[in-house]
Amino acid sequence: STCFEVTGLTKIYGEGSAQVRALRGVDVTIRDGEVIVLLGPSGSGKSTLLNILGGLDTPTDGHVFYHGVDLTTMSDRDLTSYRRDNVGFVFQNYNLMPGLTAEENVELVTEIAANPLKAAEALELVGLGERLRHFPSELSGGEQQRVAIARAIAKRPGVLFCDEPTGALDSTTSLKVLRALNRVVEELGTTMLMVTHHQGIAPLAHRVLHFKDGSVDREVINETRARPE
Ligand code: ADP
Ligand code: ADP
Repeated sequence: STCFEVTGLTKIYGEGSAQVRALRGVDVTIRDGEVIVLLGPSGSGKSTLLNILGGLDTPTDGHVFYHGVDLTTMSDRDLTSYRRDNVGFVFQNYNLMPGLTAEENVELVTEIAANPLKAAEALELVGLGERLRHFPSELSGGEQQRVAIARAIAKRPGVLFCDEPTGALDSTTSLKVLRALNRVVEELGTTMLMVTHHQGIAPLAHRVLHFKDGSVDREVINETRARPE
């Protein structure tokens, strides 16, 4: 079924001569459980789309329906609930609390979620079952990002947004992290939208959206991976 229905999505930053048209009327439909990769040059609007679908930013025009509910007409309070209950984010910087162990970092989220995984379970899903008591400084970059992924999925979000999740990692570690990420979203049935420059990620996606100048220039369906209905 349909996760997101996006119509005529437009985002203009700034005023007058300083105006930037970050999104110029994006139309896209995303199915529940779909894994989407967003590719395209820097400045083409990928992060802006993620931020609006994730309820971190609001559009200038157009609509975003999440399971039939329009995010663009929600109050700030409802948008905050939407984020808290439905959305996970993974960014390039891991934003872990340095004074807390891996398990405690994930517990920050599981303590306030309605139907969370156990922190240890989430960490096992990303292959860190043996690292529960480690502090971030005792973990490699790839491991720290996997803790951040565990934290993002522990509340069982309907949708996970990843913005350059491996941007700070070398290519071997990146591939390990991306494989862990993919295993988890498949196991939990999470819809995922990921911005990445990493070569070779396309085979993991159901669909790749190529951005150019604030719109989807082209989409490529991965014929080797059956899309969810
Ligand atoms: P991408 O993720 O593809 O690199 P972005 O969505 O980050 O692209 O940016 C699209 C355009 O919007 C760029 O020209 C960028 O400079 C501009 N932009 C993004 N965020 C802001 C902002 N908060 N204020 C002003 N301009 C912004
Ligand atoms: P990954 O590919 O998951 O990032 P690495 O191959 O980089 O893992 O690291 C291998 C092991 O070395 C890790 O299990 C980690 O415990 C240890 N390690 C890596 N970097 C550090 C570090 N800066 N401090 C302590 N331990 C580290």
